[in-house]
Amino acid sequence: MPERVSVAIIGGGPAGLTAAIYLARAGIGCAVFEPAVPGGMVFMVHQIENYPGFPEGITGRELAEKIEAQAKRFGVEISQTGVKKVHKADHEFLLELESGNQINARAVIVATGCKPKKLGIKGEEELFGRGVSYCATCDGNFYRGQDVAVIGGGDSALQEALYLSQICRTVYVVHRRKELRAKKILEDRCKEKVNLKLELNVNIHSIIGEDEVRGLQVADKESGEKRVIAVSGIFFYVGMDPVTDMVRGLVKLDDAGFIEAGEDTKTSMPGIFAAGDVRSKPAKQVASAVADGCNASFAIEEYFLEQR
Ligand SMILES: Cc1cc2nc3c(=O)[nH]c(=O)nc-3n(C[C@H](O)[C@H](O)[C@H](O)COP(=O)(O)OP(=O)(O)OC[C@H]3O[C@@H](n4cnc5c(N)ncnc54)[C@H](O)[C@@H]3O)c2cc1C
Repeated sequence: MPERVSVAIIGGGPAGLTAAIYLARAGIGCAVFEPAVPGGMVFMVHQIENYPGFPEGITGRELAEKIEAQAKRFGVEISQTGVKKVHKADHEFLLELESGNQINARAVIVATGCKPKKLGIKGEEELFGRGVSYCATCDGNFYRGQDVAVIGGGDSALQEALYLSQICRTVYVVHRRKELRAKKILEDRCKEKVNLKLELNVNIHSIIGEDEVRGLQVADKESGEKRVIAVSGIFFYVGMDPVTDMVRGLVKLDDAGFIEAGEDTKTSMPGIFAAGDVRSKPAKQVASAVADGCNASFAIEEYFLEQR
């Protein structure tokens, strides 16, 4: 017989763990399913400066650990397994876990966030882990004193480029548009760094290297002229794809694949709630993820009352 829980929370990032803290304090039984390190994407961010309560900023890792510790303080159980599929089973849900077990839940919060988008250029897959990375905080130190490239022109790209500029010799920020699309404060900081160089308005062709990354081939968008930027590490920040496989067909998704739900986190399927970056919304930030986690817990209390 499968086990039962009142609320199954899929994903132990800021959204999922915040929901768990609120539910646990309200006396509603919940279990968090998280195959990786609790804390989610935050764990991989070097420094977070815009989350209130930390005037000097806080490392992503420290924030992730604090959120996990807070959840555990209220007795939240975190199972180290992913959720493969959610099925509707009468008035409940049946979750197939990656561990092979199953669990029944009265309500489900999907807080699975996003995964980095792939650019799909030659060498990206072949040289992953041998110069190609999606996490500067995790892998940056391997390129200490060396030249690296960051692909992308948004906030995440510049934030991580700034981090790399502290440890690498030269950081090239390579972007396909003429202008960056990051917050001004980040752009200004990048421009102040002498070892951070902008390579704008270029098409990114391929990664050069057999066993490890040796460079990045780009072409000027206007002249078409090709050149190689010699680097030993390439960090991709070209966007994120939502992680929704486990509820595909069960809840409505928007055109980009995010779960359609309003601020109340209610999805098209009663009993399933979507919180954090996986929800269709403009701000994909920690503050907004924890707000969703809180809202989901309130929506679930209301849902359980309605079911009585
Ligand atoms: C480089 C970078 C820099 C950033 N900088 C900032 C910043 O300065 N300030 C800020 O506010 N935000 C920043 N963000 C965004 C912030 O990290 C996210 O908004 C936040 O982590 C979203 O929280 P979440 O809980 O929705 O999702 P996530 O943190 O992505 O957590 C989702 C969790 O779900 C788990 N999961 C996935 N699939 C399954 C499954 N099948 N079963 C169970 N669990 C699963 C994942 O392992 C993950 O732990 C940054 C992001 C990046 C990439």
